[in-house]
Amino acid sequence: MIPLHEPIFRGNEWRYIKDCIDSGWVSSVGKYVDLFEEKLAEYTGAKYAIACCNGTAALHTALLLAEVSEGDEVITPSLSFIATANVILYCKAIPIFIDCEDKHFNLDADKLEKFLKNNCYFDGEKTINLDTGRIIRAILAVHILGYPCEIIKICEIAKKYNIKLIEDAAESIGTFLNNKHTGTFGDIGCLSFNGNKIITTGGGGAIITNNSEIAKLAKYLTQQAKEPHQFEYIHNEIGYNYRLTNIQAALGVAQLEQIEDFIAKKIEIEKWYNEFLSDVENIYFPVSENNSVRWNRWIFAVLLKNIKTISERDNIVKRFINSNIGVRPFWRPIHLQKKFENYYSADLAITENVYLNGLHLPASVSLTKDTVKKICDILKTSATP
Ligand SMILES: *Cc1c(COP(=O)(O)O)cnc(C)c1O
Repeated sequence: MIPLHEPIFRGNEWRYIKDCIDSGWVSSVGKYVDLFEEKLAEYTGAKYAIACCNGTAALHTALLLAEVSEGDEVITPSLSFIATANVILYCKAIPIFIDCEDKHFNLDADKLEKFLKNNCYFDGEKTINLDTGRIIRAILAVHILGYPCEIIKICEIAKKYNIKLIEDAAESIGTFLNNKHTGTFGDIGCLSFNGNKIITTGGGGAIITNNSEIAKLAKYLTQQAKEPHQFEYIHNEIGYNYRLTNIQAALGVAQLEQIEDFIAKKIEIEKWYNEFLSDVENIYFPVSENNSVRWNRWIFAVLLKNIKTISERDNIVKRFINSNIGVRPFWRPIHLQKKFENYYSADLAITENVYLNGLHLPASVSLTKDTVKKICDILKTSATP
C-alpha cells in the first residue's frame, strides 16, 4: 500500500528514545520536552514554543488564550480538517465559515473582508455580527496542505477589526512566507506532529507565539493549571492535561533534525508530479509559484476539472484504492458535516467545487519516481475518459 503520507525514521530517533528509557524520564517532565520546545522556537523563529499532546489540544488551548468563550463567533474556512472547527465548539463558540480561494484552496482574504464589511459592525473596540449581535472574537486561519494562506492580508484585516488571529499551522511546519514561518504572523500558531504530518512525535503538537504572557498561560493551562508551589496542589483555573511526554519529544527532536532533508526530497517529488502532469488537459496541479513562499509540500493536491458528480469522483478514488494507492478526496467541507450543518455559511462555491474535483496525492519522503509515474498515469486516464 502506498499511503498518503507515511513517517520516516532515519536519524537519531532510536538513540534519543533509548536515552529516555535508560534514564527513566519517560513522562511529561524531561530534557527532551525542553529541548524540543527550544528547537521548535529556534526553527520557527517564534520566541516561545509550548509542546502539547496533539495539534487539536494546541488549537483548543489557543482559542482559550484568545479568550474565545460561550456565544462568541470564530471565523474559519470550511475546507479544513474537522479539528479546526471542533475546537470552536469545545469553547461553546460559534463557527462562521468563509470560502477558500481557487489557487491553493486557503481561506479567501477578500471574502473574509467582505463578510466583516457587509455583515459586521466595528465599534472602535470590537466587531459585532449585525445578524446575531455576537462578538467576532477570533479568526482561525489555516495553512492547508502546508501552503501559506493569504496571511499578511488576513493579519491586516484582523488588526483593522481588532480580532484575535490564530493560525492552524498543523500542516505547515517548514513553510515560510518572506522568510517568516507560518504560525508566527498572528497572535498564536498551532503545530501538529501527528503520524501523517511532515515530522511526527507519534501524536503531538505545539503552540508558538511571540507573546510572553500567552506563552506562560499556555504552559499553565496545558499542565492542569497548577500554581507554582513547593509541594501543594493548588489550581485556580480549569486546566487540561495537554502535555507532551518526554518520549514523544525525543522522537520530535530527532525528526526536527531531519526536516530540511525531508523537504528537499519533497521538492524533488513535486518536480516528478509536475513533469508527468503539467501538460495534461483538465488537470490543475498547484505548485509553489511564488518566490516569497517556501512551501513544505506536505501533501500534493490536484483538481480534475472534468469531474461532474461525487460518484464520478469516488469511482476515480476507488481505482486508486484498487491499485493500493492512498489517493483521497479533500476533507468533506465542515459546513456539510452533521454537527456543523446549522451554522452560518455564506457562498462556499469554491470550497464545494474543490471537494468535488480535488484529490490528495501521496507525498511521503519514501516515494519513488516510478510510483509517482504510476499515480500520474491513473490520473491522466481519469482526466481524459
Ligand atoms: C492534523 C490537523 C489538525 C489536528 O492535529 P492533531 O495533532 O491530529 O490533533 C488540525 N488542523 C489541521 C488542518 C490538521 O491537518
